Amino acid sequence: MSPDPIRVVIVGGVAGGMSAATRLRRLDEAARITVVERSGHVSFANCGLPYHVGGVIAERDALLLQTPQSLAARFAIDVRVRHEAVRIERDRRVVVVRDLDSGTEQDLPYDALVLSPGASPVRPPIPGIERALALRSVEDTDALVAATLSARTAVVIGGGFIGLEMAENLVHRGLATTVVEATAQVMAPLDPELAEIVHRRIRRHKVDLRLGAAVAGIGASDVTLSTGERIPADLVVAAIGVRPETGLAVGAGLVLGPRGGIAIDEHFRTSDPQIYAVGDAVEKRDGLDGSEALIPLANTANRQGRFVADVIAGRPGADRGVSGTAIVGVFGLQVATTGWNEKRLRAAGRPYLAVHTHPSSHAGYYPGAHGMALKLLVDPGTDRILGAQGVGESGVDKRIDVIATAMAGDLTASDLADLELSYAPQFSSAKDPVNMLGYAAMNALSGLTRTVQWHELAAALDGGATLIDVRDPGEHRRGRIPGSVLIPVDELRARLDEVPHGPVVVHCAVGVRGHTATRILRQLGWDDVRNLDGGYTTWAAGVGRP
Ligand code: FAD
Repeated sequence: MSPDPIRVVIVGGVAGGMSAATRLRRLDEAARITVVERSGHVSFANCGLPYHVGGVIAERDALLLQTPQSLAARFAIDVRVRHEAVRIERDRRVVVVRDLDSGTEQDLPYDALVLSPGASPVRPPIPGIERALALRSVEDTDALVAATLSARTAVVIGGGFIGLEMAENLVHRGLATTVVEATAQVMAPLDPELAEIVHRRIRRHKVDLRLGAAVAGIGASDVTLSTGERIPADLVVAAIGVRPETGLAVGAGLVLGPRGGIAIDEHFRTSDPQIYAVGDAVEKRDGLDGSEALIPLANTANRQGRFVADVIAGRPGADRGVSGTAIVGVFGLQVATTGWNEKRLRAAGRPYLAVHTHPSSHAGYYPGAHGMALKLLVDPGTDRILGAQGVGESGVDKRIDVIATAMAGDLTASDLADLELSYAPQFSSAKDPVNMLGYAAMNALSGLTRTVQWHELAAALDGGATLIDVRDPGEHRRGRIPGSVLIPVDELRARLDEVPHGPVVVHCAVGVRGHTATRILRQLGWDDVRNLDGGYTTWAAGVGRP
């Protein structure tokens, strides 16, 4: 006699939940799989929702990737939308599910229960917050689309990735849009000198960007800042962040981790071995230091959903650390990050070396190349890659993904120099920007070049260093660092008598000519020479100069 089929109930029918359900069916044709989803839709494209609000994705149906009927037909999965799991009775191994239309409740028995309830938008107790719309479900999207039809002004609270996507899409709809962000920069995973590039782009698109500003209240047609200033707002969007949806788990007595997400082991098991959890609701393991991390991203949720199905089906499957690799589009800019940023490394007291470059997306002589800013963070003791960030109009996604892959494979920063990457002029340069980051890291790690960071320059100059601008006179005229002396790199050998024999910092536009100048001076007897990392471009962004 064959054993009874396993009964698997999955709570949450989008990224993690549906990945688990469909993978499990491909592994176990006999399993009885039920998916319970509170909203009216399953397997919808939550990452596409902002673009339907903006009208970029014109057809609402394009967001609905599957229906309960299509999932039943192809995967024989019992999908129940507008059903909420209200309680887990662990002693009886049932989930109590409420039909949100009829109000009736039903027990769903399980052998394995998978929780993938996601994360819910944070709603701070600001007076009037009820009027603020959030974006998580298709229903939220419908409400936002309806609200934009009569609105002319909008305030988006929060400068994270959903807030910025919303701002872009509201501008696309023709709304005069303000973004209010409590900290000094948008996109927390970026360091400030890269965030500044994003600030400029946002402002160029006529968004009124308020940094370091707090919303004190939301009125009928405006938003009041803590300064008392009132900003017109027919529409208010709250995009302040998300928090793991843990009510069901807490009600069942499951253990939460220190960051407030559901605690799981490396096989996605909660504190009850019959109950698994994945996605935004769980605490993940940071890829760098193994600490608990809340990383609410679709790729991780989908991967975890697939692997939890493997575990349930008895196949090897384990959770791996996360690097938080992410990308967002902001008014034509690609903004991508992986691993830790400099702010976090500094706060944690970890030693690091930072490398900034400003390469082209592909060979400059081939039409259509765009500049980008890249930053690599490296452990100076071990050569380990700690993180990377990039901002630019094209090609940033590829570089950050290559670096994320290198991190996952435990390649070092110096290994980046020797990666064999595809090249033709319309796609890259013979030395790809990733190779160039590797070269720069190797030069710095080996002591061949010493660098100074944009935020260390003032202290270096106060300490008596001479600053030499090795760019051309025209570049120097258009924008210069106070106190710098102009000696173009091609004239340097002939004008050595103008270079004092004390500490020297050289700089060019992006760091390349500065590196050459540094090498000239070092080889000709100047011991204390440093190159301004990322050149004038990084410095200007860091100090907020145009
Ligand atoms: P979800 O996909 O959110 O699914 C959870 C589901 O569980 C929800 O539909 C909810 O209704 C349901 N649920 C919760 N509790 C219950 C209950 N008790 N009973 C029944 N059902 C319940 N990530 C990226 O990596 N890139 C992006 O570009 C990106 N864009 C995004 C844009 C928006 C507007 C949003 C909201 C998110 C975006 N994300 C993006 C994040 C990504 O969507 C999430 O990380 C991912 O969906 C998490 O998967 P999940 O399965 O954990 O939760």
